[in-house]
Amino acid sequence: AATLYIVPTPIGNLQDITQRAIDVLGAVDWIAAEDTRHSQKLLQHFSIQAKTLSLHDHNEEKRTQMLCNKLLGGEAVALISDAGTPLISDPGFVLVRACRAAGINVVALPGPCAAITALSASGLATDRFIFEGFLPVKNQARMNVLATLLDRTCTSVFYEAPRRILDTVNDIKTALGPDRHLVLAKELTKTFETYVSDTPDGIIAWLEADAVHQKGEFVLMVAGAPPASDELPSEAMALLKRLKQDLP
Ligand code: SAM
Repeated sequence: AATLYIVPTPIGNLQDITQRAIDVLGAVDWIAAEDTRHSQKLLQHFSIQAKTLSLHDHNEEKRTQMLCNKLLGGEAVALISDAGTPLISDPGFVLVRACRAAGINVVALPGPCAAITALSASGLATDRFIFEGFLPVKNQARMNVLATLLDRTCTSVFYEAPRRILDTVNDIKTALGPDRHLVLAKELTKTFETYVSDTPDGIIAWLEADAVHQKGEFVLMVAGAPPASDELPSEAMALLKRLKQDLP
């Protein structure tokens, strides 16, 4: 039976494509891409000649039917997105769900993903994290999501568009206070890759310091709230204080 391959592509640096991704893209009958014109550059670069068709948020239902038929007919299909790992804040979920339901084999290749790349170099806790994708655009919905971070002790990871990055950091300051630590990762794997690790005010100052600082691609990470269990009960704190007074 044919297989649907989920194939990650670079998020900026073409050298980040894997050998296996090149091999799979070179071997399949069809490549479903978010934007075929955009992906043509990548495919040309690696001399990949498979037929392409578009699969994006607005035609995913229709394309899914067509691709499932191709797969059931024995043709191999690879899914790519404009950058990084398909389905991660990118189309593909409808297709993968349908393939699974139809008993079609689905194989995902590991590869570039902005969230994981940013998190691993952020210096924030990585043992537990929540990927939030993009915040809602509407103000109330944004603030509702951000309110859930108040007591969250693990790291939160957001994608954000350049036109909203400054507003988002301001909203985080409003929702979580001025002391919550943030890490902003910009232009990952590209020439001007930058990490800024600071309080909301520090990040805001950096974004406002130079117009180019607000351009490009961003992953914004929010440190977890300090665990409540770290705080000793008030009786214990009072006792500690008294004991300290007796120390030399
Ligand atoms: N599927 C992709 C992945 O695996 O990372 C993400 C697709 S999502 C539509 C695009 C968002 O990912 C951007 O708005 C930005 O937040 C983040 N992103 C993608 N490439 C990036 C990069 N090179 N540096 C920082 N953030 C990036």
